[in-house]
Amino acid sequence: MSEILVLVEHVEGQVKKVTLELLTLARKLGTPSAVWTGEGYSPDAKAKLAEYGAEKIYVADAAEIGDYVVAPKAELLAQLVSEKSPAAVFVAATAEAKEIAGRLAIKIDSGVLTDVVGMEDGLLADQSIFGGGVNVHSRVTKGTPIVAIRPNSTPVEAAAGAGAEEQVTVDVSAAAKGARVVERIKEEKGARPELTEAAIVVSGGRGVGSAENFSVIEALADSLGAAVGASRAVTDAGWYPHQFQVGQTGKTVSPQLYIAAGISGAIQHRAGMQTAKTIIAINKDAEAPIFELADFGVVGDLHQVVPQLTEEIAKRK
Ligand code: FAD
Repeated sequence: MSEILVLVEHVEGQVKKVTLELLTLARKLGTPSAVWTGEGYSPDAKAKLAEYGAEKIYVADAAEIGDYVVAPKAELLAQLVSEKSPAAVFVAATAEAKEIAGRLAIKIDSGVLTDVVGMEDGLLADQSIFGGGVNVHSRVTKGTPIVAIRPNSTPVEAAAGAGAEEQVTVDVSAAAKGARVVERIKEEKGARPELTEAAIVVSGGRGVGSAENFSVIEALADSLGAAVGASRAVTDAGWYPHQFQVGQTGKTVSPQLYIAAGISGAIQHRAGMQTAKTIIAINKDAEAPIFELADFGVVGDLHQVVPQLTEEIAKRK
């Protein structure tokens, strides 16, 4: 079967879940080869990539690649595409990897699809477009297809691959060294999962009422092992930090379950969450637009509904 390159996302040497999703998908369509960039590669990382189906692992772990922003990774992928002639390149639909995908597309003169939520035989992509308002089937017709796939859109399945390692070096061009990473600041996120990777997200909107009241949302999230999200009304008011904003100008999430409490469901908020598998809305206004989207809805005051839900979940543990 034809080779599919999968760009590995990792943090502190740990392979991120989205990479396992990409490997799972690639395994169904061809033979996945993982591409590791930057420092942190280890026997554990190798084992993880092989466990989820990587037949080969191209390792470019020179510090230099990680020291610069996205450009060296695009150069490395372009080099691999020209050497290996893969059937496709899969990256995660994260802000960074989408930029890499765009740069790679220019370098190898190929089509790129972003915000893909599923792939079928023949590299036919199910793509969420216009801020998530429409789903279309798309296929790249020029060059080597580059596909940016949304986190949480594919269930992870282990399928052992050989994990054969191949060291790769790339001569990073002077142009790619234009912007350098000078410092990495660890996000304060406590024990909660990362918002874009979480299987469950509990988000609060203006209906929460204040920064202090957000503890109600956090308690429900913690009872479910979920990430916390917020609407822009909340982040603009300074009730919750901006990095937790979900929507057109915030993060895009595709969890298995999204709980929206006190959120009206404006189009800009929907753009960031409407591909969630199941949506539950809690809102005191039965006419709130979020109910048009929700699979389950509770019309009521979130200050009563959410603590009861948290208590009920705690009882069932
Ligand atoms: P509101 O619209 O005020 O809704 C609050 C809801 O809470 C209401 O439905 C109300 O019935 C309910 N409520 C009130 N009290 C309670 C209670 N006690 N119990 C239960 N329910 C209650 N928004 C985003 O979220 N993300 C974005 O990325 C984003 N980007 C934008 C980009 C642009 C260019 C623009 C113009 C806007 C953007 N917005 C974004 C803003 C968006 O248009 C909405 O204004 C915002 O989503 C509203 O947030 P909200 O639903 O929390 O507040």
